[in-house]
Parts: sequence; C-alpha cells; structure tokens
Amino acid sequence: MTQPPEFFDLQVNGYGGVDFNQDDLGADALHTACATLRADGVAGILATIITEDLPVMCARLNRLMQLRAGDPLAASVIAGFHIEGPFISPHDGYRGAHPKDAVRPAEVGAMQRLLDAAGGLTRLVTLAPEFDAGLRVTRLLSGQRIAVSAGHCDPSLDQLLAALDAGLRLFTHVGNGCPMQLPRHDNVIQRALSLADRLWLTFIADGVHVPFFALRNYLKIAGVDRCVVVTDAIAPAGKGPGIYRLGRWELNIGDDLVARAPDGSHLIGSAMSMSRAFDNLVRQVGLSEGEARRLTMMNPRAAMEP
Ligand SMILES: [Zn+2]
Repeated sequence: MTQPPEFFDLQVNGYGGVDFNQDDLGADALHTACATLRADGVAGILATIITEDLPVMCARLNRLMQLRAGDPLAASVIAGFHIEGPFISPHDGYRGAHPKDAVRPAEVGAMQRLLDAAGGLTRLVTLAPEFDAGLRVTRLLSGQRIAVSAGHCDPSLDQLLAALDAGLRLFTHVGNGCPMQLPRHDNVIQRALSLADRLWLTFIADGVHVPFFALRNYLKIAGVDRCVVVTDAIAPAGKGPGIYRLGRWELNIGDDLVARAPDGSHLIGSAMSMSRAFDNLVRQVGLSEGEARRLTMMNPRAAMEP
C-alpha cells in the first residue's frame, strides 16, 4: 500500500548513501538523498550539520543552502537545518562522536556566522546550556524564532530551568549524548524527564540507542504529547545492512540498522528509516498508530513552532 509522505524528521545527517556532512556534496547526490527520503514516506526533514571547525561547518551549510535552492525536490524535502554543535559539552561521554578539537563554548559571534552561512534556513540548534555563558546564544536564537535544544550536555536542574526561561524548547536524543554510566538519580536523563511539561524530548526509536522497554518508560513519564521521534540517520539509511565508508569511519550496519564502529565499541548513528521507527513504536513499544503518528508526524512539526 502506498502511503502519502507524512513523516517529519528533525535529525537527518544523511540518507540514501549520501552524507550531508561532507565538503563536496553534489547536486545529484543531494537529489538522490531527497528522492530516497520521499520514497520512504518522509515529507520533510531538518538536514543536520554536526560539529566541525567553524569554517567547515559554515561551508557545508552554505553549500547545502545553495544546492537546495537549485532543486525543487530538495527545497520541498529539506524544511531547514538542524545545527548540532559545536557548542556542546567537551567532556567524554557527553560529547559522543563529535570531534573534541572542534567543540567550543557557545559564543554569539560564532553562532551568527553559522546562521549567516545557512541563509535563514536554521530551524533548530542543539547546544549545551551549561556552556552558553549568560545564555546569550539561547536568547539570540529564540529571539529569531529558531528552536533551541539541549543536547550532548550535563546541565544542572537550575541551569536547565534558566535555559527554559531564556527560550530552550527541546532536549535532543534523550538517553544518548551522555556517558554509559551515570549517577543513579541526579543525572541528565532524569533532569530532562522532570521538565517534560516544558521541554519537547526527542528519542531515537531504533531499540538500541534506547532499548524499547526504556523508551516505553520514558514515553509514559513524559507523555506522548511531549515527545518526538527522530532517526539521527546517517548516509547508509535507506540502503540496508552492510559496510560503508563515512568520512573517517568505516561503518558496520547490522540487521538492527544501527551504525557501529567496526570494533562494535560505540554507536555512530542510525541507518533506520522513519517508517521503521514507526513500526517499532507500534510493534515493539506497543503504541497505537495514532500515538505513533503524533511522535513521527505531528509533534516534530509542533516542536518547531515558535
Ligand atoms: Zn547527537
């Protein structure tokens, strides 16, 4: 049965064999990625650019913006950009796979350079509130109706509350972007969950980034109406299991569609499609189709509304 494309994905690093985080992205490759997304039922995405040296991030955003402008399909699929980093926690575990040498504290001038390079298409920025001194970047972004999400971070509850007052709206991939071992009660996951009435929480629903039983718990605590499902897809998404080369990484995509380092030591992203995430929500988490639609179609759009 052919369904109209309805999914909306706030975090897509690449798709259909195409990496958005490359310096020489071509028009044909971008078109292929967007056509594959559409064929997989995705109406819109935020193309996600992750931590690198600032000029590199600016060049990638600018190239994507220009290629998108020349391709009606890309302009329709790519609703805007999600800039994830470089203003995240430098601490191991919280930093995840983002390159340490390019992580830096939030700073208005640097943020403005990224926004300028993206030509008004930035819709979402993931940063660490505890490294946004005076919450100046959070205020700059929320003042321009750009959604701010806490992620790859370890803010105290007070720091999160202050960030909420400054315009923070979301928390990026809860349960990831943090160490494998955490204090049992006072940890960033519990803090984010405790504020779910004011924060949209995003989750990667592949069963590995968050086991399904834990995702079920999180959804019960926060409520389906406060949560969003993302894929955090990287280039092999939409292609299936296999070995892929991606920048510095040689990735092994298993049958679970999770991207692992070749030695299996850590997760690098997901190769899951949104339709697979939808199936997981219904079959593995036990949600109704209506609830799964909220998490993958309605809520991602609502979370972006200023
Ligand atoms: Zn991340």
